[in-house]
Amino acid sequence: MADDPAATGHGFDLDQRLREREHVNLRRHLDTAAAVAKRTRFVDDSTTGPTADAERLVFASNNYLGLATDDRVQRAAACGARRVGTGAGASRLITGDTGAHRELERDLAACKGADRALVFSSGYAANVGTIAALDPDVIFSDALNHASIVDGCRLADAETIVYDHCNPDDLRDRMAARERVAEASEDWLVVTDTVFSMSGDVAPVADCCAVAEAFGAWTMVDEAHATGVFGDGGGIVTREGLADRVDVQMGTLSKALASQGGYVAGDESLVEYLLNAARSFVFSTGLAPPAAAAAREALRIARDGERTVQLWENVARIREGLESMGYDVRGETQILPVWVGDRRDALALSKRVRERGVLATAIRPPTVPPGSSRIRVTPMATHTDADVRTCLDAFETAGEEVGLL
Ligand SMILES: *Cc1c(COP(=O)(O)O)cnc(C)c1O
Repeated sequence: MADDPAATGHGFDLDQRLREREHVNLRRHLDTAAAVAKRTRFVDDSTTGPTADAERLVFASNNYLGLATDDRVQRAAACGARRVGTGAGASRLITGDTGAHRELERDLAACKGADRALVFSSGYAANVGTIAALDPDVIFSDALNHASIVDGCRLADAETIVYDHCNPDDLRDRMAARERVAEASEDWLVVTDTVFSMSGDVAPVADCCAVAEAFGAWTMVDEAHATGVFGDGGGIVTREGLADRVDVQMGTLSKALASQGGYVAGDESLVEYLLNAARSFVFSTGLAPPAAAAAREALRIARDGERTVQLWENVARIREGLESMGYDVRGETQILPVWVGDRRDALALSKRVRERGVLATAIRPPTVPPGSSRIRVTPMATHTDADVRTCLDAFETAGEEVGLL
């Protein structure tokens, strides 16, 4: 190592890179207050506001059904640890394959109307591993797809054609244009999120399938925010009866299913191929057994539907309340993007809402396009009537303070 890195000219000036982000309001910080599973959380805000160490309501997590702190799910995790062990100990292909994995995969496949499912150590690993293993020649990817899909396309080193968000006509035009120069042996993949995490809208999956089918291409969907919430737990594909038309149903165990890990469901040959060829599966330790056991129990509870009814009641009340104040609330799912536009306004609103006892995150570039900053409000099934009122009061007062209402 050189005595003086600056003198060599080849060091990394990370402090400078961080300052540049800070300067354009894009620096991010870890925040224990936001990283929560419960619907309430005590946070020490002594440095930021008058209500130090107060209890905050969490309207910012992906734990939509509140199952991460559910007794039954917690017990299932503990039982998984006792019965199988805290870790899988090795890759599934070595000695890490356990009953906890097999039981979860069987239930996931049944829920999704698929032959078989395969669990990965995260949703991110499922996306990058699956897309790279499929090794497509051309990928058609929705403009707002999740970063893990984007990274999967990069890792696959495929020609990636981005189509307009949720626009099957644009998808068809781009596929037709590409068809004119295609070779017969090319493998094409159309890939889309079903529920978009930052805009709360739903992809027209049936239309995308129809377009893909017209070109003999495969369709892959990412149900991260739909699994456990729509279609009796199975997601949008299940809700719309498309299991036979979607070739690759991917999702995560880390959102409504309150655990950790990702999965892919599809036909026998897909799963058999992925467990041979997906490097993020082959060369990574098997999903931790407590996570597998917890996800399985959460899936069972989600499928029974009672939590979902509570979730939709809370979503409707928050949406109607915010809209009646004059907020522009977009989307059509449990994810409520409260449109602000300017990133500084979004930060200010989020901070004021937090001072009033509610955690809701400001979403800024590069997560979303410039000029479309928003507050992402995610109600949970376990929020009480009083929680809903607190949230609405916080947004009303904060919106007036910031000058948005
Ligand atoms: C969260 C998310 C992922 C990644 O899942 P993890 O299990 O958190 O790694 C993938 N796709 C989408 C759409 C997501 O929202």
